[in-house]
Amino acid sequence: MKIEDYFQDYKTNKVSPLTEMIEYLHDEVSDLINCDATRLEGRLQESYESYLFNKKIPENSRTPKEVLSDLSRNFGGAIRWHNPGSMINVNPPANLPAIAASAYSMLFNPNFAQDLSTGSLLSTELEVIKLMAELVGWDWKNAHGIFTFGGKSTNLHAVKIGLQKALKNTLDKPIKKDVFIISTEQGHPCHTEVCGWLGIGYESLIKVPVDSFGMMDIEVTEKLICENIENGKVFAGMLLNGGTTIQLTVDPINEAVDMRDRLVQKYNLDYSPHIHVDAVIGWAWLFFKDYDFCKNELNFSEKTLIKIASLTNRITQMDRVDSFGADFHKTGYCPYVSSLFMVKDRKYLYELGKRDSVELEELEYGNYSPFEYSLELSRSGTGPISAYMALHCFGKNGFRELIGNLVEVGEYLKATLKLNKEFEVVNDETEGSVTLFVIKNEEFNINYQDIKNMSKEEVEDFAKYNYYFYLYLLEKQTKHEVKVVMDYSSGFDKTPNNTKIGVFKAYHMSPYITKELMDIYINEIYQAKKEFDKIKDEYQPYLVAHKPRQFVLR
Ligand SMILES: *Cc1c(COP(=O)(O)O)cnc(C)c1O
Repeated sequence: MKIEDYFQDYKTNKVSPLTEMIEYLHDEVSDLINCDATRLEGRLQESYESYLFNKKIPENSRTPKEVLSDLSRNFGGAIRWHNPGSMINVNPPANLPAIAASAYSMLFNPNFAQDLSTGSLLSTELEVIKLMAELVGWDWKNAHGIFTFGGKSTNLHAVKIGLQKALKNTLDKPIKKDVFIISTEQGHPCHTEVCGWLGIGYESLIKVPVDSFGMMDIEVTEKLICENIENGKVFAGMLLNGGTTIQLTVDPINEAVDMRDRLVQKYNLDYSPHIHVDAVIGWAWLFFKDYDFCKNELNFSEKTLIKIASLTNRITQMDRVDSFGADFHKTGYCPYVSSLFMVKDRKYLYELGKRDSVELEELEYGNYSPFEYSLELSRSGTGPISAYMALHCFGKNGFRELIGNLVEVGEYLKATLKLNKEFEVVNDETEGSVTLFVIKNEEFNINYQDIKNMSKEEVEDFAKYNYYFYLYLLEKQTKHEVKVVMDYSSGFDKTPNNTKIGVFKAYHMSPYITKELMDIYINEIYQAKKEFDKIKDEYQPYLVAHKPRQFVLR
């Protein structure tokens, strides 16, 4: 093969070599696919070291087919997220229009650093930013945003803006003041990590206590902030939760904004501490803002409606904050990476690159250059193009249908499990779609609530019982005896003496999930539990897809 044959022929503009390669790869990978199974066949049994041992760069060119065949084996063990039995995490299947559009756009290899070479493709990003600004209720002409490398980076952008607002010249000068950022005990671990990346250290992130609903306790937080300010530290902003990863907890946004404004008055601050909402998951509930809950045209059940309405009420308070993050690769059903950082006042985005703000009306083809303030220089178009496709293809009702169905089926799962005495749902109150539960039998007939009062040994036995059932399910999945794949959240809770309690986590994301299918999966679990209870004392797992995380009991 000539080297130029690896590229599209510029004279004929034929796309068939590309689609043929995709079809060839698909045929090869299909050998590993059992449509009923959540995971692809073929596992890497060996260590990564032995996998790598004989790998070398070939001396001479090889045909795409040869290499695609090799590559196809690396798909082994991958999860098919669209399979409704997949209930592992907030990892959606990517929608086809987004995959098609982003894959096709790579023929033009657009660099989203600036518009000149991408033609109008970079306008897709501006368009998504406008649609999102309107969705949250901001003035779209004054708002701005940027796609970046993950939800983690959206938080990183927020903390950086917070530092620049509070300390002014942090781009030229080293930070010499003690600063602090507020998040909560329920905040994502990356809130701390980004403080490390920004050089202000993990310790500058204060995780404030939460109330019994897992939400920021405003009174306690305000006291803490005052103490820190009075001790000479600089208040550099807050990262509020806009839907935590599992429980979908949203902090009281209005109260937090009011508190911030009070503190500005009280301490006569010459800046307004930045408030960001980490809504990388919860943003999708914004689509329900103008859903007619009385008419209920999508026919959600009453319980689903109440939960969606409540969450929508709280997430829509984001119109009052300074910035938020949205992951299209989570609740937007887009391919990785599609994270959007949105800021209400465009000037703060430009200030990240020490640039003067450019008004929207001044932007035109030839002068739009996000690289001037973005963290990345060269930047992929996958995020913006995918988000553009998802928003325009699904529309508001499509998103409502997707998200509403997750909640509806989640409620169904909870209600059904509650009918069985051997199962206990531990997060019935959650407004998210995830179901957390534990299993019991005569020996371990414990109310989850009472675990806190049990001895360390009793808790460990109970936790082990649940953990080994999880391994048992994993093994059955490997043998294709069950179709459902759930996860296990190892450190979900802690007893007063710090014993970690693990719980089952059913995090369904597939658009194909229905109550009828959920019934099948529930029955699989009921059956498996009956079998497990008979053999649990001798049970040793030997055939699991991967060595699961250690059974954490510290
Ligand atoms: C997933 C998640 C993040 C991190 O986002 P990435 O896209 O994985 O970088 C941050 N915050 C919350 C609440 C998340 O769920």
